[in-house]
Amino acid sequence: MLGDEVPPFFEALGKVFKKYGFRDSRSRNRLKYLIDAVGIDEIIKAVEIEGGRRYQKKGVTQTPVQGGDKTGKVQLKNGTFALHMVVPSGIFSGTAMIQTAEVSKEFGSGELRLTVEQNLYVVGIPEENIGKALSQPVFQQYKNKHSVFFSDLIACAGTEHCPFGVIPNKPDAIQMADYLTKKFPHLEGKVRMYWSACQKGCGIHGLGDIGFVGVKFRKDGKPVTGVDIHFGGTVTKESEEGKLLIKNVPLEEAKFLVEELITEYSKLKKDKETFEEFYSRILTRISKEAVKFLMKFNYLMKKKKIPVRVEINETVLGRFSEEEEIFGFGFQIYRKLTGKAPYSRSNILEIYDEPKPESLKKLKPDIPAKLSEIVMKMIEKSPEKRFKVFTEIEQHIKEI
Ligand code: SF4
Repeated sequence: MLGDEVPPFFEALGKVFKKYGFRDSRSRNRLKYLIDAVGIDEIIKAVEIEGGRRYQKKGVTQTPVQGGDKTGKVQLKNGTFALHMVVPSGIFSGTAMIQTAEVSKEFGSGELRLTVEQNLYVVGIPEENIGKALSQPVFQQYKNKHSVFFSDLIACAGTEHCPFGVIPNKPDAIQMADYLTKKFPHLEGKVRMYWSACQKGCGIHGLGDIGFVGVKFRKDGKPVTGVDIHFGGTVTKESEEGKLLIKNVPLEEAKFLVEELITEYSKLKKDKETFEEFYSRILTRISKEAVKFLMKFNYLMKKKKIPVRVEINETVLGRFSEEEEIFGFGFQIYRKLTGKAPYSRSNILEIYDEPKPESLKKLKPDIPAKLSEIVMKMIEKSPEKRFKVFTEIEQHIKEI
């Protein structure tokens, strides 16, 4: 779309929303709910009628740019530098803003730029001034280089500033980033964690590598606040919305589940691979149900102090069904707990002529009987007795 076509397009879009949007419902009075209800094709048709012209379909991005902030120092076209300033959850005081502006005036061009990821750049710093600028007190409080969990963190207003908020949000996002920073202090790459305190999604959780949405639900009969966890949103090249991974996670548990996913990222990632690249290289080759199982199972084993965890490896990658992934995980658990493989091959299609494995409980008497029962059913030789989908296991796992 050419520059002068943009304002009339938005005018037409605004009129369509005014006419058809759910303006009588405070909670659904958003364009996104209208798009959800009628589909994007209907919206485009209506905008074209309203604007009295047709629009071209979008083209293909030819110059993909890495999504998220560029961290540290970034060289600008005129040879000076922009210094990144990480503002956790975007919480910044007026005093800090004045101090930052003064740093820019004294050592740079006097400009500041705000980023989508709720951070800042102090712009126009000549190379010889970088050290002096970074030694200023405001850069001690808001770091130029922070962990991957803080550098690209977004969190919407939350309960303190928005009547729709279900969770505090900004403090929750900081707490999670802090926990993960302590667990993975040297992790390189990029992990965009985006938090929305309610379903309206101002924290663009759907585009996060890992996204969180504040929700209320009942657990053991009591009302609880927590999050739905999403993953796999992309912003590089074409943006795509991620998928809902786990629903209704109490806030205090969310960090432990995410830790399990980050453990896989840190083990399997290439050098400085971003989470987004890792997602498309590895996580698209395994079902989201399998990822959810990995996170929940590993967290439970840690809680129960049972020394075993499943991982993403050749036993589960690139399988055609959940049944095969379940078998792969069962194979791993059996091997890790007993020191020997249940079958000589880890492929479900190649075990028909192998003997039935010995009971896990017999080989490892100190593990809970229920865990042994579940694992034996995951790797059961006879297809009729084997678990077929992860939801079948979920209920049993609660009984370990
Ligand atoms: S997503 Fe956040 S800012 Fe948006 S309406 Fe909900 S609580 Fe408010």
